[in-house]
Amino acid sequence: DQIRPLVAQHIREVRDFPKKGINFRDIMPLFADPVLVNELCIAIADHIRNSIGHIDAIAALEARGFLFGPQVAIHLGVRFVPIRKKGKLPGQTLQASYIKEYGEDIVEIQHDALKSGDKVFLIDDLLATGGTLRAAIDLIAKSGATVSQAFVLIKLAPLKGREKFPEVDLVSLISYD
Ligand code: IMP
Repeated sequence: DQIRPLVAQHIREVRDFPKKGINFRDIMPLFADPVLVNELCIAIADHIRNSIGHIDAIAALEARGFLFGPQVAIHLGVRFVPIRKKGKLPGQTLQASYIKEYGEDIVEIQHDALKSGDKVFLIDDLLATGGTLRAAIDLIAKSGATVSQAFVLIKLAPLKGREKFPEVDLVSLISYD
């Protein structure tokens, strides 16, 4: 709770990126303050310990989820499981697809990264339309694991992404209207 305004101060608004009319939320200024990044990752780990309890793995989404996921996993002493765009992970994978503004996108997880019954905490930087997190939740389900809770640093509330995965608990640090 104390960390929320500090993190919010480090989110930069970039108008017309990546194209005209889009108001991009840039989290990179956060990484100019390594002490704050570390405090944030410890706060996420503490939240998991105190309000969820046991989890088997942290999963996060390429690319900006990877800025937080491994750090939280290290603090908790649990596995980190990457979810990546199609074609990036070696070996056998499971896939889930989702519709983006222009066509379909596919995300993958290594087939043996999770096992049946595993409890997973899912991390991404930002929730917009919800397609990305929906696909990640589907992938984790295909592995036989379940998402204990999903976490995003930022929720863009007007895009109603939250409605795409009503069955999964979500925590967002900062919400923009
Ligand atoms: P969604 O699938 O529409 O919810 O989009 C979420 C994904 O797009 C996340 O993985 C984000 O990294 C990325 N994204 C969308 N908008 C922004 C933004 O304004 N800032 C940073 N990332 C964004």
